[in-house]
Amino acid sequence: MGRAVKTEAVVLRSMRYGEADRILHLYTPARGRVGAIAKGVRRARSRFGGRLEPFFRLSIELHEGRGELLTVTGAQTIDAYARLREDARALDAAARACDAVGRLFETSEPHPGVFNLLCRELALLDERAGGGAAAGAATAADAARSEDGRVRSGARAGALAFRLKLLLAAGLAPQLGACASCGEREHLVGFSGAAGGVVCAACEAGSFALGEHAYRFMTDAFAAPLHAAPDAPDAALGQVERAISSTLEHHANLRLMPASGRSSRTAVSWAA
Ligand SMILES: [Zn+2]
Repeated sequence: MGRAVKTEAVVLRSMRYGEADRILHLYTPARGRVGAIAKGVRRARSRFGGRLEPFFRLSIELHEGRGELLTVTGAQTIDAYARLREDARALDAAARACDAVGRLFETSEPHPGVFNLLCRELALLDERAGGGAAAGAATAADAARSEDGRVRSGARAGALAFRLKLLLAAGLAPQLGACASCGEREHLVGFSGAAGGVVCAACEAGSFALGEHAYRFMTDAFAAPLHAAPDAPDAALGQVERAISSTLEHHANLRLMPASGRSSRTAVSWAA
């Protein structure tokens, strides 16, 4: 009865269930979001060890029966993102990234590009996490880079660039090249989630102001790979976040948690 499924997966969420089990939300390349149960995983001698925790990238074996949840029968670690786990801010950012993927792509529809994007985002957070020698080296590299006028993007900018790429993958990328209401290419002054993108001065009713920095951040973020995401002043990032939220509310009826926490103390609870 049932069949075996072998796939790569990222653990988006892991919730305690019953005495010793966990319910997992997994994101997979070919089956989108998958719900699974890992039995006995919370026992000290579980053969799964700690590798069914959030943000692990796994090669996982599942048994698919009649129920809604698949059953985990085996798991090998592809990447544990170990440094990320030592850093409260990086953990918080990873939780927000996984939450955004899980809610924006909650069906079994395959989006292998989204899986790759999530793995790249987790790898970047891992690479940039932590203190000590690694952070010192990164700071030296940043200083060198900022001499050519390129500054590594901050946490909020990185999180927003990731979300913009998710919008693109979901087919919800806002129109930025011309007014989303009338097609005008000049005097683009606002953003309207309802209209689906930037709007000109004549169509700005119901929109909010979108400045030059925010506009440039969005176009650059779509064009650049995640590791080279642009940065912008905080006020501009606030406009970008509002543009993303308003797009999601109007076109996906979805509200995500803020893209970044204000401090490590606000870290979201990522394991129930
Ligand atoms: Zn217009």
